Amino acid sequence: MHIPRTNSHDVLIAGAGPVGLFLACELRLAGCSVLVLEQAKDLRNPLKELPFGLRGLSVPSIDSFDRRDLLRLIEERAVPRSSPAAAHWMQQARRPAGHFAGIQFFHDQIDSTQWSPRLPDTVSSVAVDMASIEAVLATRAETLGVEILRGCGVENLKQLELGVTVFAGGREFRGQWLVGCDGGRSTVRKAAGIGFTGTDPEFTGYSAQVRLADPDVLKPGRHYTATGMYIYAAPGTIGMVGFDGGAFHRSHPITREHIEAVLRKISGTEVAVTELELATTWTDRAFQATEYKKGRVLLAGDAAHIHSPLGGQGLNLGLGDAMNLGWKLAATIRGTAPDDLLDSYERERHPEGARILDWSRAQVALMRPSPSSRVLESIIRDLLQTPDGATYFAGRVWGIESRYDLGDAHPMVGRSAPDFELTDGTSLNQLLRIGHSILLDFEACESLKSLARNWSDRIRYVTIGAKDRLGLSALLVRPDGVIAWASDSNGGEMAAANSASKWFGKPLTTPP
Ligand SMILES: Cc1cc2nc3c(=O)[nH]c(=O)nc-3n(C[C@H](O)[C@H](O)[C@H](O)COP(=O)(O)OP(=O)(O)OC[C@H]3O[C@@H](n4cnc5c(N)ncnc54)[C@H](O)[C@@H]3O)c2cc1C
Repeated sequence: MHIPRTNSHDVLIAGAGPVGLFLACELRLAGCSVLVLEQAKDLRNPLKELPFGLRGLSVPSIDSFDRRDLLRLIEERAVPRSSPAAAHWMQQARRPAGHFAGIQFFHDQIDSTQWSPRLPDTVSSVAVDMASIEAVLATRAETLGVEILRGCGVENLKQLELGVTVFAGGREFRGQWLVGCDGGRSTVRKAAGIGFTGTDPEFTGYSAQVRLADPDVLKPGRHYTATGMYIYAAPGTIGMVGFDGGAFHRSHPITREHIEAVLRKISGTEVAVTELELATTWTDRAFQATEYKKGRVLLAGDAAHIHSPLGGQGLNLGLGDAMNLGWKLAATIRGTAPDDLLDSYERERHPEGARILDWSRAQVALMRPSPSSRVLESIIRDLLQTPDGATYFAGRVWGIESRYDLGDAHPMVGRSAPDFELTDGTSLNQLLRIGHSILLDFEACESLKSLARNWSDRIRYVTIGAKDRLGLSALLVRPDGVIAWASDSNGGEMAAANSASKWFGKPLTTPP
């Protein structure tokens, strides 16, 4: 049988979810040819629209989108707190800042001076639906020249010495690299023989849009009960968790009768569900890929890690994978990458994923319908009322205190660069929009300028002042916005040159 084969691409991406699309944008921005293979034919999915499609973006995701000039497009579609479409927790007089297993903490409790040096007022929050995120990313990807084939799911793959053959939609595709962004049940991960390990589920979670005989029979908000937890927004939006060991999830059809029975059990009321309009289930299964790279196959997003959606962090974690991987894979394809640059993707992102999985497990421990969990809940509730407690939880939930372990040369190395306001009216995030690394020199140091010439095809040297430079004299920022080198005083060229070699490979000429 003749199987049609397409021309080779630098990178094939399985999955046009938010992670696959954002990665495609990153790779294309860096000049790679990219083909995205997406299983679903139809773009529209009601679960990606409001209310269930609502996603909160963390600070690293907001920064990443701003560094690619996508934030303003996302914000145009964001859900304002005052909107009737906003989630119940958004519509409070006191400004909520996040939650741990549903226990809220508030902006007015947070003491941001406890965090590592950062610019004032740089923390924001954005709530937006998945359909909008995907639409913005797909438009950007296609504008950049990414090809997206919908209705063409990856079925299998074959690793070659210098590439991958992918079998999808009855066709054969060749790429130098394949990235599986095909979600939690990733075909790519399984076909590449990558292990997936973690902890089994304790509950089945439900998101359901229903009609109730009496919408006032349930109290709006989030409630812990002796048998589980439910969230209700009138007149018929329900989220609930039933501790059944995850037995119901994907094992039975979701019927009106079942939703009614679970809701009655958890809420302890004789609520009557007259119609089931939309429903889906999920669990707290927390699994992570044992490797993020195997031969010419890489994983990102839910394909690499899954956990309960309760903490609202899966999308943010996946977007972080894409931002970290894009420039490294592009440099590897261009041939400028140092030997282990691509391996640093797993070194940096696997621990991030493991931390988020543990954070989600800790929330499950608090939610169990047991006396000890209720005690734990009351302790955490007290803690979240304190400025120290709220500040700690905000730092974790917003991703502010994230730092890659890139050594101790300077406390800011490994952290996301602050968006310095520059004296010409632009900002560091704006400089990063071309997808290059930036050597930002606040003191016009001649030796740094001449050093940058040696990597002028990969590093853009900028000397300019900033409104508040947090005591820094210069910093080297990777294309993903992570600080690779920083100095508080003039000089340090040797360390800057070492850092440039470590991340961007050989200089064009021998450094002076
Ligand atoms: C109820 C709920 C609430 C959530 N709330 C939040 C939140 O507030 N904040 C947050 O950060 N995260 C949240 N998440 C998690 C978040 O939605 C996911 O982590 C995120 O969608 C992962 O993106 P992805 O691109 O990796 O995978 P997906 O969004 O799953 O996209 C994968 C894509 O791959 C396609 N695909 C599948 N198989 C194949 C194949 N074989 N070949 C080609 N394509 C394939 C799929 O059709 C899909 O388009 C929530 C999740 C749920 C279920």
